[in-house]
Amino acid sequence: MKRTFQSFVFGCRVNEAERAQIDLKLVEAGYHIDTHSPQVLIINTCAITGKAEREARQLIAQLKKRHPEAKIVITGCSATYWHQHNSAYAGMADLLIPNTQKPRLIEAIESKWGFDAPGLKDAENEPLDDKFRYSRRLLVKIQDGCHRFCSYCIVPYLRGQPQSVPIKQIVQYVNSFAPSPSEVILSAINTESFGKDTGESLLDLIAAMKEQTHVPRIGFGSIHPWSLNTDFLQFYKDTLVNEPRFLPFFHVPLQSCSNPVLKYMNRPYKIEDIKESLNAIVMSKPDVFIATDIIVGFLGETDELFEETYRQLVSLPISRIHVFRFSLRPHTAADTLKKTLFEVPENIKKERAHRLIQLSNKKYAAFVKTLIGSASHALAIRYDEKQKGTRLLLHNQVEGFLPNKKVLPGKLLNVTIKSVKREKAVCELES
Ligand code: SF4
Repeated sequence: MKRTFQSFVFGCRVNEAERAQIDLKLVEAGYHIDTHSPQVLIINTCAITGKAEREARQLIAQLKKRHPEAKIVITGCSATYWHQHNSAYAGMADLLIPNTQKPRLIEAIESKWGFDAPGLKDAENEPLDDKFRYSRRLLVKIQDGCHRFCSYCIVPYLRGQPQSVPIKQIVQYVNSFAPSPSEVILSAINTESFGKDTGESLLDLIAAMKEQTHVPRIGFGSIHPWSLNTDFLQFYKDTLVNEPRFLPFFHVPLQSCSNPVLKYMNRPYKIEDIKESLNAIVMSKPDVFIATDIIVGFLGETDELFEETYRQLVSLPISRIHVFRFSLRPHTAADTLKKTLFEVPENIKKERAHRLIQLSNKKYAAFVKTLIGSASHALAIRYDEKQKGTRLLLHNQVEGFLPNKKVLPGKLLNVTIKSVKREKAVCELES
């Protein structure tokens, strides 16, 4: 009998990396991915916003309707929160695996239902594609947990103290893939903590990835503002700038660019320092693509303080802004702060989000335009039947498009950027 599953993920790249790990382990244990009649459905949830939690609940309800015979397994931050607080939502699943138990998820499934579980229907012979090996783009979790306790954030309560994956283990995991990945994205809940518990550092990790793996493209999911310290910036300038395997892409989640709001958020850095670091990065390599996350409407964010964030974002070398509307998470420090700071009305949050999304679109389009005429090393992602061409990720993670060519996902190509269409760099193969 064939065992089949389908997995879903919400939230950050660490969640995505964990999902890839779970998928891989299940495939190794003899399961197959089946999107039509899966026997087990695994949902890796997120709790960073009320919206993320709501979406997870909606998906679980939809999946229960769509696959009434399938077993529903939930894990991740919302699932952990429901478990910790005896929420009725925990009962939506057949099996709930809190974050701390996630590494033993497959064993938990096996011990609950086993291989020949009654009620698990034999799958029809669907064409099962092994998606991670197919795309050859691998998200790798390098660290979990956080010690920062930003006032809006529930993650430290759900993921616990920082724990790093030892470099040796990361290298082994990456090298165990066959065929080898074309791109590895190193993902952490907080890169700042990486190696503090193992006596290693991010710089050691980059060196090991370079020397002990053959991955042609290596990048980070997010680099946290505290990681952009003098050592990192020096290493970047001296080594990484000239390292063709390192992707010139930085996702630096700033959350606000107003110093008083950053203080309310318990994020002790000054926007002037961040500006200096980001300018130094861009100065060393002008085609570097920098993105950020911004929360609008945090407690106490007056019009004036929001305008300060807006002004800074106009002048910072940031080309994409992921915008989130603040939603109060229970049991966080913000829950107490709301007694002293005013709450921003929803309609104002919406207006602010809209303005930042427009600014982001404008800045991204302007940045992609600066790449016209330059060469790039691109990764083929998938063929787009509708647009008749292959979607690409350029060397700096900008989305590209190769018209009228069907290239296998995972293949690396040398291209020239010819124009910009629908926010994508339109490319041509280099001869
Ligand atoms: S750094 Fe702040 S926002 Fe990020 S996980 Fe830690 S507490 Fe949450």
